[in-house]
Amino acid sequence: MTHDPGKPDTCEDPPRNELSAAEARARILAAVKPVAERERLALGDALGRVIAAEVPSPIDVPGHTNSAVDGYALRGDELADGARFEIAGRALAGHPFDGKMLPGTCVAITTGAAVPGGADTVVMQEDTDARDTDVVIRRACGRGDNVRQAGEDIPAGGIIARASDRITPPLLGVLASLGLGAVEVCGRPRVAVFSTGDEIREPGEPLPRGCVYDSNRYTLRALLAGSGVETIDLGLIPDDREQLRHALTEAAAVSDAILTSGGVSVGEADFIKEILAELGTVAFWKLAIKPGRPLTFGTLGKSLFFGLPGNPVAAMVTFLQFVQPALEKLSGATPQPPVRLRARCRDRLRKRPGRREFQRAILTRDNSGRLEVALTGRQGSGVLTSMSLANCLIVLTEEQESIDPGTEVGVELLPWATIATVHSS
Ligand code: AMP
Ligand code: MG
Repeated sequence: MTHDPGKPDTCEDPPRNELSAAEARARILAAVKPVAERERLALGDALGRVIAAEVPSPIDVPGHTNSAVDGYALRGDELADGARFEIAGRALAGHPFDGKMLPGTCVAITTGAAVPGGADTVVMQEDTDARDTDVVIRRACGRGDNVRQAGEDIPAGGIIARASDRITPPLLGVLASLGLGAVEVCGRPRVAVFSTGDEIREPGEPLPRGCVYDSNRYTLRALLAGSGVETIDLGLIPDDREQLRHALTEAAAVSDAILTSGGVSVGEADFIKEILAELGTVAFWKLAIKPGRPLTFGTLGKSLFFGLPGNPVAAMVTFLQFVQPALEKLSGATPQPPVRLRARCRDRLRKRPGRREFQRAILTRDNSGRLEVALTGRQGSGVLTSMSLANCLIVLTEEQESIDPGTEVGVELLPWATIATVHSS
C-alpha cells in the first residue's frame, strides 16, 4: 500500500502511513550526530557530563600498599599463635614508618597507613596483647591478610572511563581519587524550545476566555534540565505563519535541536509541518502510538526538529520516548533502552491492536515484593494530572488488545519515580 504522507487520513483503523514507535526511534537516532565540541572542565563542574575520550589512570589506586585495619604489620612467615614481636615503630595514615623492619619485629599500624617494607601481613589489634615494647599474637591470621595492595583497585594505566560514559557521582569520586583536577567532556547540546498556539498564555498573566496556560514549556524545560542540555527558551509563538517562520529560523541558527509543542495536527491553524517542509525537511509526522500520534520529526538547517503534540501528556510522553534518546546521542552518550518491568495490572485496559499505547499508572510493591500497577485515573492526553500522579507508564505493545484485571503488563518507570510499598494488612 502506498500513501501520500501529506494527505490526512480520515480512517483510523487500520492505521495508515503511521510509523511504529520502534521505527521512529531508529530513524531519529540514525539522523543524530553527536556534538563535536569538547571542553575541559574542573572536576567540581563535571557531574552529569559525558566523557569525551578514554581516561587512563595516571597512578596506582591505592597509591601505596596499606593496612585495612588497626593492628601490627609484620612478616607473615613469622606469624603463629603465641608468637612475640618487638614493636619497632609506628605507621599512621599520612605518616609512614621509614625505618627497617628486622626479623622478629613489627610496626604498630593504623587503617590506611603504608605497610612498611619487609611486612606483608597485618594482625588486627583485637587479636593481640600489646605491652610497652612488644606484642603477643593471640590469634594468628593468614599470610597477606588485612593488606590492601597498591593498584589493587585501579592499576596505573588502567582505563577507568571511556568516551560516552556519563559522569555519575561515583565516577566523579574515582576521577578525584586519581588526582585529576579537570576532565575532557563533550560540549552540551543547545536545545531551543517554544510553545505555539493563539490560545496559549504565560502563567502569572490574566487568562482571557478560551485561553489556556502554557504548561508544555515548563514540563519540557524541566525534562531538558534533567537531560543535561543547554536550553534556549524562545517563549510563546502564536499560530501565525510569519512569526512561526521567524521563530524557527532563529531557533535553527542557535541550536542543535528544536522542540516545539502544538500546531502539528491537521487543524486549520496547524502550520508547523507545512513550514518545516518549506524551510527544512520532514522525515515523518504520524506515529502508530497513543498519545502522541502527530509527532513531527525532521531537520532545519543543522538542527534536528521535533514538533511535539500540543496536548500536555502527549508532549511529555513523546519527549520521553523519542526526544530523550536523541538528546542522549546528541550529547555524546549512548542511549539506553528504558528499564522495562512486568507488573500485575489491577484495571481493565481498553486497547485496539495496531498501535503502541502509554497509559499513566502507579506502580506499587506489596509486602512480598510483588509489583502491581493501577491507572492514575482519566487518561485523556490533555489530563496532565494523569502524569503528575503517575510513577510509570504502562506500555501496551502494538499487537496487544484490551486486557482484563489481573493481567501482567510491561511498565516503564518515569525518570522521577519512586516505588511505594503498599502494606497488606
Ligand atoms: P494542538 O496540537 O496545537 O492542536 O493542541 C492540542 C491541545 O493542546 C489543545 O487543546 C491546546 O490548547 C493544548 N495545548 C497546546 N499547546 C499547549 C501548551 N503549551 N500548554 C498547554 N496546553 C497546550
Ligand atoms: Mg494549537
